[in-house]
Amino acid sequence: MRQAAALLGLALLSGLFSGCDEPPRLREERIQVFGTWVDLALWGVDDATAARAIRVIQGDLGDLHTRWHAWQPGELTRINAALAAGESVDVADSMRPVLERARTLSLRSGDLFNPAIGRLVALWGFHADAPAKRVPPPAEAIDALVAAVPKMGDLAFDGSRLLSRNPAVQLDLGAFAKGYGVDIAIGRLQDLGIRDAMVNAGGDLRVLGRRGDRDWRVGIRAPAGGLLAAVEIADGESVFTSGTYERQFEHAGTRYHHIIDPRTGYPARGLSSVTVIGRDGAEADAAATALLVAGRDWPRTARALGVTAVLAIDEQGALQATPGMADRLQFLDQSPPALGIVPLPEI
Ligand code: AMP
Ligand code: MG
Repeated sequence: MRQAAALLGLALLSGLFSGCDEPPRLREERIQVFGTWVDLALWGVDDATAARAIRVIQGDLGDLHTRWHAWQPGELTRINAALAAGESVDVADSMRPVLERARTLSLRSGDLFNPAIGRLVALWGFHADAPAKRVPPPAEAIDALVAAVPKMGDLAFDGSRLLSRNPAVQLDLGAFAKGYGVDIAIGRLQDLGIRDAMVNAGGDLRVLGRRGDRDWRVGIRAPAGGLLAAVEIADGESVFTSGTYERQFEHAGTRYHHIIDPRTGYPARGLSSVTVIGRDGAEADAAATALLVAGRDWPRTARALGVTAVLAIDEQGALQATPGMADRLQFLDQSPPALGIVPLPEI
């Protein structure tokens, strides 16, 4: 398999945000959380407000990271242990809307975005900080988990208690945690009266307002490295990418990545990366994962999820975009790559 196409939304050339010719109105701050860096770019914010924003966001995201961790002990592992035992479990007030949100998005994606397949992700060895497992799991074990059909629809609340009708359900919120976290951070900035900002979690990001007298501009990395294109992002919009290259291992000449197709139990095939421009970060994050899983059939899933701006790169490196994305891509190269325009189907 060829090198997985690398595509990441990233803050366009950090030089854009720093450097000697930078007006003093832009502040950049980095915090480490989610096992990645979260960059905050704040426009026209005074020192005290910036310091407060950083403190609050660091606290919020750190808390979310602990509570939602799929394998380090926290609220999610406690819930998962109970679900596996077929027991109902008390869920924190803050967790209920998260799970309900995840369930709605899962349903709308035809369960391609399926946070109930934690067991499959673990079976593939991706529930580890540095995955030790370097061989694919036995086919029978994969087939048994697929046959159990774990899905978010198996979950039901009775007051604050959560119960699963299906003991195969194990929650893994990894496919929309960043989006949810970025939304929380954006909400905090708004609460502090900050109107112009970008929250960038390792290339997945959302913006508020503008960067001075122009829109925020972010880059999309080319499959072979370097920048492929830039896009301007309007107030409240987010950009999320799912890429097979983010976590993977190689065995006997085949690469196995971390985004699992719940229909087969194997790493999704067809696409190397999907970038979605949306508004709500959690939704865009879930959508990027769902479309990556959908593979070549991604336009149908995009339509079902109401996503209109998509860039997909297939395993051969070919680019496809919806008209809503193609209109916005500003290719940086003199000779831009071929881009297939894919209108969304009627359903
Ligand atoms: P993302 O990078 O947002 O696409 O999220 C990928 C992560 O979500 C993986 O590392 C798994 O923890 C989890 N995951 C894998 N496959 C799926 C899936 N089909 N639906 C939901 N979450 C998934
Ligand atoms: Mg995602």
